[in-house]
Amino acid sequence: MPEETRLPSCPRCGQRVARLVYGRVRPSEELQRALDAGEVVLAGCVVESSRWCCTGCGERYVDAPAPGPEEQP
Ligand SMILES: [Zn+2]
Repeated sequence: MPEETRLPSCPRCGQRVARLVYGRVRPSEELQRALDAGEVVLAGCVVESSRWCCTGCGERYVDAPAPGPEEQP
């Protein structure tokens, strides 16, 4: 399974962790779909080192956290 379709989950609350997208983004169907699916979070124009954001508690991560035990094959 491609890595893109498997998002990590937050080690703190177990919710899905989405990719942070910095800067101005042009609205598109693909972006909207990703936003609706909770796969990406718009982070604004202030670029930080974090690349991931929890959709539950809002914790940000520089590196994608490892998937939870339930997601291990
Ligand atoms: Zn969380």
